[in-house]
Amino acid sequence: MKPDLRGLTRAELEQKLLALGEKAAHAAAIFLAVHRRGETDLAALTGLPPRVGRALAPAFSLAPLPLPERRQSSSDGTKKFLFRFGGDAPAECVVLPAKDRVVACLSSQSGCACGCTFCATGGLGLKRSLTTQEILAQFETCLREAGGLNSLVFMGMGEPFLNWDNVKRAIVILSDSRGRHFPQSKMTVSTVGVIPVIEELTASDLRVRLAVSVVAADEEQRARLAPMEKVYPLRKVLAAAREYCRARKAHVMFEYILFPGVNDRPSDSALLAGLVRDIPCRVNLIPYNPPGGPGGETPRVKEFQLELIAAGVRTYLRPEKGADIAAACGQLAAGN
Ligand code: SF4
Repeated sequence: MKPDLRGLTRAELEQKLLALGEKAAHAAAIFLAVHRRGETDLAALTGLPPRVGRALAPAFSLAPLPLPERRQSSSDGTKKFLFRFGGDAPAECVVLPAKDRVVACLSSQSGCACGCTFCATGGLGLKRSLTTQEILAQFETCLREAGGLNSLVFMGMGEPFLNWDNVKRAIVILSDSRGRHFPQSKMTVSTVGVIPVIEELTASDLRVRLAVSVVAADEEQRARLAPMEKVYPLRKVLAAAREYCRARKAHVMFEYILFPGVNDRPSDSALLAGLVRDIPCRVNLIPYNPPGGPGGETPRVKEFQLELIAAGVRTYLRPEKGADIAAACGQLAAGN
């Protein structure tokens, strides 16, 4: 099967054009036609001599982007879209409207191999990683349905850093000035802590924001909830995050889901504060939503937040959205 032209960055496309004896500058017209205008006829792209399209055709396909199979809307305005990508690889993306902004949450994989016990996606296991154009298809659906997007988070199904090549390529394509020109600074990539890729991101020229899923401050408890702790222990993940902040003069976001009676005790907030206090960060607190339905905020959520604030940690209590359509954090299960 021929690779889809849409999955190439502009720099990669320029190299292909040069190898075909064509001008690298044609890549800009191809990007405008394909990514901005959604054209799909390779032989008749606007602004491109038909000769160039015909030269690319033996090596590349340009199929229309897949459309979602199912749409669901929540009473709070959240919308969830289910795609069924080739080879039985379902994946979901979510549009989250807030008061003054709209956020798209994209999936990087169909299912996930990380096996976090609280997460519906983890319960599916990994079906496969998504291609660059499958990630772009989710973005285009969210953009069309929302009528405009302010930010983008890779916090849907899958661990983005275990499909980093395709996620990175999607980031570069989406932010290209001849494509959607979506600022990298408005994109956040969330990881459970894949240290080698945190290090790669630190050394890269990408401007995306980093979010790390803490899950639990106690190692044994974290290993029970997020088995990746055994591969990438939290203390080492935090060291990588600290270095990311130092090298990039940036701050990192720590995601912390509050499981009632499990990791929301005063001793947990004290342990967490001790771990992150010296890292330029914000801790996003997320009330737990069980896979089957809404969970919601317990009195401990607010108390936990106040304990962190008193310990000098910046916090944000994330209002959970879309729980009634299983679109909230940890609930994406692709219709299963
Ligand atoms: S929380 Fe994230 S990393 Fe863990 S299983 Fe779910 S999708 Fe995978």
